[in-house]
Amino acid sequence: PLSNPPIGRFAPSPTGPLHFGSLVAALGSCLTVRTRDGRWLLRMEDVDGPRCVPGAADEILRQLETLGFAWDGDVAWQSRRSEAYAAALERLQRSGHVFGCACTRREVADSGLARDGSPRYPGTCRGGLPAGREARAWRFAAPAGDLHWADLLQGEQVEDVAHDVGDFVLKRADGLFAYQLAVVVDDAEQGVTEVVRGADLLDSTARQIALQRALGVVQPAYAHLPVACNAAGEKLSKQTLARSVSDLRPAVALSAALRFLGQPTPDALARATVREVWEWALAHWDFARVPRVRSVVVADLTTL
Ligand code: GLU
Repeated sequence: PLSNPPIGRFAPSPTGPLHFGSLVAALGSCLTVRTRDGRWLLRMEDVDGPRCVPGAADEILRQLETLGFAWDGDVAWQSRRSEAYAAALERLQRSGHVFGCACTRREVADSGLARDGSPRYPGTCRGGLPAGREARAWRFAAPAGDLHWADLLQGEQVEDVAHDVGDFVLKRADGLFAYQLAVVVDDAEQGVTEVVRGADLLDSTARQIALQRALGVVQPAYAHLPVACNAAGEKLSKQTLARSVSDLRPAVALSAALRFLGQPTPDALARATVREVWEWALAHWDFARVPRVRSVVVADLTTL
């Protein structure tokens, strides 16, 4: 039932080099569309300048090239798209979906936690700014009630954005646009038909769908891949991982990511060339084999 040809994307944040989790997202999103003659786009999510690490974007691009990835068109850079985000914010303002908020971080933090553990906004400024206070940030007036969607891997999902998250920020007090707005504007403008990414972003999806509805843009299909975690249930990071992606031979890293995604790679593939791994992957990719869970325990990449 997916549109034809599909358009997928990989959207890393340049906060550090490519790690195993991002390799899995890159490979899963790429194979999902490439095996159906689709386009695969690359978007550098450097909208949060202060969190970006100098040189990380270039390093990610180099790593992807070494791993044999080839994207369609030019890399999209969120840091160069402020005008598009400002236009979307203005549209949302005109349609009454946005309000100015004077609350400080401390004031919001004092009022309880959202589902993802971040401070849950209690709605203080929704009905208007308190006397004598000025807007610092701009928030989305989240719709009340259950929002349902079906994830292609994780199944039926439901979230009450207003209750579980609260009115979330679209433009921050420091003037930067929020990830949630940027990703929705970009996915819509790039014509992305399916978002394939790590399950750590499953909880962002309802917010993004709520924004898509308010903006009147098409909702892409979503597939959230399992994330790799250690035996203690912690997401794999540099610290918890025995070896990082760049320490492995590219073919070994690709083979490990394919195995992680449930693909029965032949043992010899880890000793093959990068080109041979891609040939195998493009010929044998089977989305139905991807584990339909949020996380999978991995002790060491080389034992996958
Ligand atoms: N930039 C986000 C991240 O690296 C991914 C956003 C997305 O795929 O929607 O976590």
